Amino acid sequence: MIVKSAMTANPNKGTAPDDLTPIRESVRALCADFPGEYWRRLDRERAYPEEFVAALTKAGFLAALIPEEYGGSGLTMTAAAAIMEEIQAAGCNGAPCHAQMYTMGTLLRHGSTEQKKRYLPGIARGELRLQAFGVTEPTSGTDTLGLRTTAVRDGDHYIVNGQKIWTSRAEHSDLMLLLARTTPREQAKSRTAGLTVFLIDMRAAHGNGLTIRPIRTMMNHATTEVFFANLRVPAEAVIGHEGEGFRYILSGMNAERILIAAECIGDAKWFIEKATAYAGERVVFGRPIGQNQGVQFPIARAYIGMRAAELMVREAAALYEAGRDCGAEANMAKHLAAEASWAAADMCLQTHGGFGFAEEFDIERKFRETRLYTVAPISTNLVLSYIAEHVLGLPRSY
Ligand SMILES: Cc1cc2nc3c(=O)[nH]c(=O)nc-3n(C[C@H](O)[C@H](O)[C@H](O)COP(=O)(O)OP(=O)(O)OC[C@H]3O[C@@H](n4cnc5c(N)ncnc54)[C@H](O)[C@@H]3O)c2cc1C
Repeated sequence: MIVKSAMTANPNKGTAPDDLTPIRESVRALCADFPGEYWRRLDRERAYPEEFVAALTKAGFLAALIPEEYGGSGLTMTAAAAIMEEIQAAGCNGAPCHAQMYTMGTLLRHGSTEQKKRYLPGIARGELRLQAFGVTEPTSGTDTLGLRTTAVRDGDHYIVNGQKIWTSRAEHSDLMLLLARTTPREQAKSRTAGLTVFLIDMRAAHGNGLTIRPIRTMMNHATTEVFFANLRVPAEAVIGHEGEGFRYILSGMNAERILIAAECIGDAKWFIEKATAYAGERVVFGRPIGQNQGVQFPIARAYIGMRAAELMVREAAALYEAGRDCGAEANMAKHLAAEASWAAADMCLQTHGGFGFAEEFDIERKFRETRLYTVAPISTNLVLSYIAEHVLGLPRSY
C-alpha cells in the first residue's frame, strides 16, 4: 500500500497555497503541446525552440512583468516565478527565453519614458525580443568591475570595443542590454562608478561592428561570444545616467535570481515526480524498487530539500514585490533551489538505473540543463561570499 500511494503521489502536494492556480494551469496546458520529443530533437540539433517561445509570447507569459500601461500584464514577481516554475515542472526549458522577464526590468526601472514607450510595447507584443544580456567577459569573469569592453563618446555616438562571453540568446534577440566601461577604472569617482548600460539594437549592429559566435555547450542553451569592433551606438541608447550602470545591473539581479530559483524548483518537482512514478512501477527482485528504503529515502530527501528551497523562493519574491531589500533572500533562494534541483536530478538518474541515461526518458537532458544553475547566473561561492560579508558581517574576501 505504501508503494501504491507513492505511485500516485504528487510532488506539488502540500506546497504553500497560492491564488495562481489558473496561471499555473494555463502554463501547463501550453507546455503540453511541447512534449519530450520536441525538446529531444532540439537538443540533438542544438536548435532554438522558436515555436515554444512564440507560444509563450502569444499567451502573454513573457510580458508578465511589463506594466499594463506598456502592454504587458503587470503581474507580480510571485506570478512570474510561478510561470517559470511550471514551465520547468512540465519538462520544458525556460532558459531560451527567461531573460526577457528580468532584463526588461533594467529598462523599466532606469530607462527614460521615451525609451520605455519605444521598446516595451513591442516587447510585450512579441515583435521585439530583449533576450541578450551582455555582462560577463572572458578575462574578468565574476569580477564584473574588471570588465574591459569600452564605450567612448564620439559626438552623439559611443564607439564600443571589446568582447563578451556567454551572451546567451544573442542570435535570437533584437536587443541587447550591454554593460561597458565609459570611464577608465583609475579615473572613476568610486570603485563601482564608470560603467554604463546601453540598450543596443542588434539588428542595426549586426555586421557593422558586432559579430556573434555560438558556443556549443553540454546542453542546448544558445549561448554565444559577442565581439565589438568600433561599433557605433547612438547616445540615446544609454539607459539612465552614464557611469551608473553597475548599480542598475545589480538592481536587476535580484529578479534574475528569484526567477531562476523558481525554475530550479520546477526542475526539482519534475525529477521528483519522475522518480516517484518509476520507483512505484519498476519491479526488481519481485517488488517495486520504491519499496526499498534505499530507493525511497533519497526521493524523500530530495522532496524535503525542494520544499525548503521553495519557501525561500516565495519569501524572496514577496519581499521583492513589497519593494523591500531582498538581496540576501534572492541569493539564498537561488542557492538553495539550485542545490535542490541538482540533488533531485542526481537522485532521479540513480533511481532510474541504466534507463536514466537513455535519451528517451528525458532525464539525462534535464540533468544537463539543471546543472547550470549552481554556476550561472552566479556561482555558489559568490553567493556564500555575499552572505558571509553582507549578512554576517565577515570581512570581504575578494
Ligand atoms: C550556459 C551559460 C549561460 C550564461 N549566460 C549568460 C548571459 O546571458 N549573460 C551574461 O552576462 N553571463 C552569462 N553567463 C555567465 C555566468 O554568469 C558566469 O559563468 C558565472 O557568473 C561564473 O562566472 P565565470 O564563468 O566567469 O567564472 P569565474 O569568475 O572565472 O569563476 C570560476 C570559479 O571560481 C570561483 N571563484 C571566482 N572568484 C572567487 C572568489 N573570490 N572566491 C571564491 N570562489 C571564487 C567561482 O565561484 C567559480 O566556481 C552564462 C554562463 C553559462 C555557462
